[in-house]
Amino acid sequence: MIQQKSNLKKLSYITLSLITVIFIVAGYDRSENIYQQYARENENYSNLIANSAENYFRKVDMILDLIGNHLVTGDNYKNTEAAKDVFSRMLSLNSSIIAYALISPEGKYLLTHLDIPPEKIPSVLTREAARDSFLQTLQTESLVIGRTYFLNKTKKMAIPVRKAFYDENGEPIAVMAVAIDVENSEMFDTSLLQSGSKIIHLLRDIDQHRQLYLHDAMLDDNETIYQTPISPSAYRKALSLISENSGMDIERFKQSNQSTSFRFTNQVDQVEYLVSVRYIETLGLWANSYVKASEIRNAIFIDVAKLIALYLVMAAVLLTLFRKIEETENQKRKELEFTAHHDSLTGLNNRNFLIQNAQRIIDHYKSFYFLLIDIDGLKLVNDIHGHAFGDDFLRIFAERLATLASKRGEAIRLSGDEFLFITDLGFNPVQTVEAFKQELEAPISVNDIQINFTTSLGIARYPMDGKRLSKLISSADMALHDAKQSEKGLVVFFDKAIEEGFIRRALIEKSIPQAIRQNQFSLVYQPQIRYPDTLYGVEALIRWHSPELGFVSPVEFIPVAESSGLMPQLGETIIEKACEEISRVKEKTRCQFQLSLNISAKQFLHPDFSQHLMATIERHKLTPKEITLELTESIFVHDMATLISTLDQLKAVGFKISMDDFGTGFSSLSMLRKIPLNEIKIDKSFVDDITTERSAEYVAKTIILIGKQLEYEVVLAEGAEAAEQVALLVEQGCNTFQGYYFSKPLPVEQLESYIETIRCHAEQDLT
Ligand code: C2E
Ligand code: MG
Ligand code: MG
Repeated sequence: MIQQKSNLKKLSYITLSLITVIFIVAGYDRSENIYQQYARENENYSNLIANSAENYFRKVDMILDLIGNHLVTGDNYKNTEAAKDVFSRMLSLNSSIIAYALISPEGKYLLTHLDIPPEKIPSVLTREAARDSFLQTLQTESLVIGRTYFLNKTKKMAIPVRKAFYDENGEPIAVMAVAIDVENSEMFDTSLLQSGSKIIHLLRDIDQHRQLYLHDAMLDDNETIYQTPISPSAYRKALSLISENSGMDIERFKQSNQSTSFRFTNQVDQVEYLVSVRYIETLGLWANSYVKASEIRNAIFIDVAKLIALYLVMAAVLLTLFRKIEETENQKRKELEFTAHHDSLTGLNNRNFLIQNAQRIIDHYKSFYFLLIDIDGLKLVNDIHGHAFGDDFLRIFAERLATLASKRGEAIRLSGDEFLFITDLGFNPVQTVEAFKQELEAPISVNDIQINFTTSLGIARYPMDGKRLSKLISSADMALHDAKQSEKGLVVFFDKAIEEGFIRRALIEKSIPQAIRQNQFSLVYQPQIRYPDTLYGVEALIRWHSPELGFVSPVEFIPVAESSGLMPQLGETIIEKACEEISRVKEKTRCQFQLSLNISAKQFLHPDFSQHLMATIERHKLTPKEITLELTESIFVHDMATLISTLDQLKAVGFKISMDDFGTGFSSLSMLRKIPLNEIKIDKSFVDDITTERSAEYVAKTIILIGKQLEYEVVLAEGAEAAEQVALLVEQGCNTFQGYYFSKPLPVEQLESYIETIRCHAEQDLT
């Protein structure tokens, strides 16, 4: 789950990063596009400027040609008034020409638009700014454009344009000079300044003076702009940018008629512009169109802002989506975690929780007790009142445990009726456990039915009885197992002896199958005497001499075989051997007596038991009525209906049924009434104390009475060792005995000799 959580987080980060990258790329692409779009547009403007300038000067050239030719043909210019008239008419074709003059090749003014006589105007050669271009005009037939200057008469900046006229011999006749108003040049559509280009700029390549500089805003110091060339460093930089952006060297670019763009800080206003340039080769001018970089930035910003807004919306949607998924996942995970870590019936933590939290618990408590709690007889509660009732009972019990745990500890349900309580028992653990146990065992009422019950506890201590969870559980489990061995409601603290017992049990369990195969089991037979001296029967008792374990008592290995499922197999071996040996003894001795076989619960309840038993006795030519089946009370915790029906069937074919160790189990009198018994065996523990303890005497007496009342054929006292015991029991009505007083269990050969010495029935007639 945690893994899944981090995967989801990872996925959300990855998706978000991906979207971020996509948006960054898109943003970059958009801004590049916008920039390129501006650059393309601006380059178009620069082309437009170049073409307009070229056309304009071509037009001016034509006009000058017309006027000049007219004036110089036949010295027409000498008629001042007529000449002026020609000028005026011609120049009306172009209103941007605001001054004119005709100058002799020597620099003398022949005609001007001024009202003063031309001879009064000083020679053009005396004017520093004009001299060079004037002389240049005399060298060429083309139009010569001079530096833009301040025209006093109009108080405006003007572009001087000159053209020389020659006679047939190529000698200059005169120079036509006009001044073009910079601001009203009609060279360009000035609406350009509003819609696109923010500065229209024609730069003289020859001296880097501005020929024309039109700005969308009014400029204060127009004169300085024209009088100061752009700095050589700025010019160099511009050239290198042109070269770099166009991919051509400057000369090639000039001839290419192409335009290019770059970012450049304008020296006039110190603002950054996107400058597009095109060279006008015929005029030696750079045609520049300027667009403010900030305008482009704004356009990019607006566009990118839209993208960012979209990005933010998408990121928010995505994050909300992921958060929602995560929330649902979290919710689901919590639910799953809860079900994974909690018991569905009681809501208590479960075994998984314990496994996952073992380290935390260990760290938290440092030293603690593992109380493994088993509710005694829960099966009975379920059997009697039904499972729904049992569930309610368990819920109440669990609540009780949870309340105790809330003070200090952890409560866990391990399985059906097994709970674990982890706590610190303080300085007096025995006393604390007793108090705790009493609290737990307070009667529980379900549907107004009150259940009194006990609990058995197996306790392991951390760290003495185990440092790891598995060891602690197994130690507590061993202690609990031990607690449940003898009587209910016990508390057992784990110790080494318990563990050793378990190890031995495990060893026994492991050795039994091999012992069966290798025929290590033998039988002894203990005579049962019909008082005073007749052989009534013999009880087959198993013996095991194990090569590894030595002599192992049936008291030790029968329960192991029983609990490990080996009993039916072992039981079959016993029945087979006993029938075979006793059949032989009977044949030999011609003595009739009962063969008592101890049948354990698992063996008896095995589905094949009756069938197998019948087959075995028939094989050995015995009849059911010669066989007594000894059952202990422990068998009656099982399903009574099936049990009684099997017993009825067995009894019907002649088997005798004996209740072994009577008085040690928990059979009730009413139960006893239902069981079809022939015999009752008073347990040795009562016989032992019969002469010393009144209570034992009473119990024995009562059992004998019950046997008589229920008309059992045999009331047998087990373990009679002394004459006084026998005497007392006879007095009370006991008719049959089995004990060392009469005989110890005997190997089959000794039994034969024993039979020789005792009275015995030739025909079976024992009732
Ligand atoms: P149990 O069926 O009650 O057998 C009587 C036990 O008391 C036998 O112990 C017997 O040796 C012992 N005993 C009889 N008289 C005296 C006496 O006067 N003094 C003393 N101290 N002991 C006496 P054993 O043979 O050790 O068997 C113990 C138990 O093991 C049996 O108790 C029976 O429950 C079980 N067992 C023995 N053999 C078998 C068997 O073949 N099958 C099954 N299922 N259980 C068996
Ligand atoms: Mg017995
Ligand atoms: Mg017994």
